[in-house]
Amino acid sequence: MKTFNYHSAKNVKEASKLASSNSVFLAGGMSTIPSMKLGFANYRDIIDIKGIKSLSGIKVSGKTVKIGATTKHVEVANSKDVKKAIPSLAALAEGIGDPQVRNRGTIGGSIANNDPSADYPSACIALNAVIHTNNRKIDADKFFKSMFETPLKSGEIIEVIEFAIPEKSNYQKYPNPASRYAIVGVYVAKHKSSVNVAVTGAKSCVYNDKDLAKALTSKFSSSSIDNFSISSSGMNSDIHASAEYRANMIKVFAKKAVDAC
Ligand SMILES: Cc1cc2nc3c(=O)[nH]c(=O)nc-3n(C[C@H](O)[C@H](O)[C@H](O)COP(=O)(O)OP(=O)(O)OC[C@H]3O[C@@H](n4cnc5c(N)ncnc54)[C@H](O)[C@@H]3O)c2cc1C
Repeated sequence: MKTFNYHSAKNVKEASKLASSNSVFLAGGMSTIPSMKLGFANYRDIIDIKGIKSLSGIKVSGKTVKIGATTKHVEVANSKDVKKAIPSLAALAEGIGDPQVRNRGTIGGSIANNDPSADYPSACIALNAVIHTNNRKIDADKFFKSMFETPLKSGEIIEVIEFAIPEKSNYQKYPNPASRYAIVGVYVAKHKSSVNVAVTGAKSCVYNDKDLAKALTSKFSSSSIDNFSISSSGMNSDIHASAEYRANMIKVFAKKAVDAC
């Protein structure tokens, strides 16, 4: 039996005030609850933020899509506005986990957790996202620091994730057959003056493959990267896929994503 104090926060200010080095925010609970049940984590205070209305919802305006932190994956997947503005983002959300996970898991929880195989971090990098917290705005390329590590401080709460609407984009992933986390996922987004190629699942943290991005910025065609050979150095290797396999899949998926744009 685990003991902890449960708090249902009414607003962001209250949630932030309750936070300490021995607390956790409860959004969908899809990472926190399994890690507590398995004994990987233990908290004195669980601060439920699901009831904070200002943290949920989707707004499309001009050049950006803003998604509230506690918006569930299923809401992003089904949103007509997201499907119209950034279809690849809705498709990414539709491919997360299973219906149970999509009906509870949230975008803010996913990026705060920064799992090296999670899908949303790649969308944040590819779509030049800005992460709005209760204290500041953080560009996606500064947010995903290393495995399960972000610059979020104690009491800092993600409020909104703001995505730039690209000209074209597509996400390809090879899902783990059990969890659907990305064994390798590649998100290509063509913006007005540059292309991003965000890779998840392959290394200890999501990253923008600058070489692929540069080649595709020069010419947005899958043939531009035909001659690329991606080094497997530093890539994950496990029972699902070797480092060499992952390296090869990045190129395969980058080409597929460009062709699908
Ligand atoms: C079986 C299974 C399969 C899954 N498959 C996939 C998959 O295919 N792809 C994928 O990307 N993910 C997958 N996930 C992860 C899932 O998508 C969840 O989004 C993710 O686990 C965390 O989101 P959550 O809302 O449940 O966060 P929680 O578990 O509630 O919280 C996780 C962490 O984020 C922090 N946090 C939450 N919200 C905020 C906030 N607004 N501000 C600051 N910190 C916050 C909490 O303090 C905690 O440390 C899977 C999970 C499970 C259990």
